[in-house]
Amino acid sequence: MVEVVDPRSRIHMALVALNQDRSNQMKIDQVIDQISGSWIAEETLQLVRVPSVTLHEQQVCQLYEQQLLALGLEVQVREVTPGRNNLYARLSGTGGGPTLMLNGHLDTIPNQNQQPVYQEGDLLYGRGTTDMKGGMAAILAAVRGLQLANVRLQGDLLLTAVVGHEEPEAKKDGPLAMIEDLNQGRISCDRILIVEGPDALWIMSMGSMVFTIALESERGGTHTQYVPFGDNPLRFLGETLARFDTFQQELDQGLVHPLAGPERIDLGIVQAGDYFNRIPQTCKLTGTRRWAPGRQAETVLEELRALIDPIARKGGLRANVSMEHQREPFETPGDDPLVEAVATAHRQVTATEAEVVGKRIVGDANLYVHGSGVPTIYYGPSNETAHADIENVSIQRLQSAARVYALAAMEYCGVQ
Ligand SMILES: [Zn+2]
Repeated sequence: MVEVVDPRSRIHMALVALNQDRSNQMKIDQVIDQISGSWIAEETLQLVRVPSVTLHEQQVCQLYEQQLLALGLEVQVREVTPGRNNLYARLSGTGGGPTLMLNGHLDTIPNQNQQPVYQEGDLLYGRGTTDMKGGMAAILAAVRGLQLANVRLQGDLLLTAVVGHEEPEAKKDGPLAMIEDLNQGRISCDRILIVEGPDALWIMSMGSMVFTIALESERGGTHTQYVPFGDNPLRFLGETLARFDTFQQELDQGLVHPLAGPERIDLGIVQAGDYFNRIPQTCKLTGTRRWAPGRQAETVLEELRALIDPIARKGGLRANVSMEHQREPFETPGDDPLVEAVATAHRQVTATEAEVVGKRIVGDANLYVHGSGVPTIYYGPSNETAHADIENVSIQRLQSAARVYALAAMEYCGVQ
């Protein structure tokens, strides 16, 4: 049956759609107008003035909680260790839309060279400005912009701040506590946007592990003159290094990830021997292996074992291959609704297309995706001076990022 549509009703529908577009555009313009760099700069400076090296975040947690409460948000304080709290704040939606979490960390690396906190022109200086108190202030501005423009989201918007991200001593206790809370249903969300990194869509990271290969010799502790040089385990160290070399060439020619490039095997520490004329008992090689999405740490470790076993056998050595600090890779598809929402918001704010990037380095997204199953991406104001001696962030870019966060929330959560 052919449906007959009255041409007048078609015109009416087109007009309704046009009006909808106009009112959407008006809302977008109002939100953009309500987000100003100077407000973000003020909040960022307040946060940066309170030092918060990992494991010493107590004071900055209190300050950020105050900043969240000042926006009228409901704040859940989640103690990780005494006084060190994850903060979960909610901007409740009207219902019917998905929940978006904007996430970041409140701790910093140490301020090694005592760099002062100050503003000069468009730049805010000090430890933690770009990594990542600027981003944490930008998400406050995004919420404030939505509120001042009277935009009611359909889905909830969660703002979460974790402790324990930077220094290895904390063992990622803040991010892991949040994963536990997601898994226990104490908080829930459909997507996580981590507000750090470059102002690009960072949608994948390789997996990473620190591996150690220990080649052990039965003849260790013997005078070198009683063992033929060809049997000395150090000779097989040479062979192992050469094998790494060809292995990297194989990786370069293997499956090269379009965003992150070829996989890597890298070496940082070689240890062997305790005296110039004693056969070493153990040769140890410690390095990093980074691999593309699609395989898990265990498989990659097996591959390393297969690489080393023939060499060890030849030398009558025992090979022990182990890993630590392993993180599985993550990759969120380019057509994921959150990726599309941030891409749209970036276009609305900057009139340019957001670059889509992948990285070999791992971060909290690897943990969140594998620990909680929630698809996660990054989009930050900037990260060029993260961990640098002179750290700074551009107010202009904070403003732009905050606008992107607000518009992405409208796009993803829906607007009433
Ligand atoms: Zn960071």
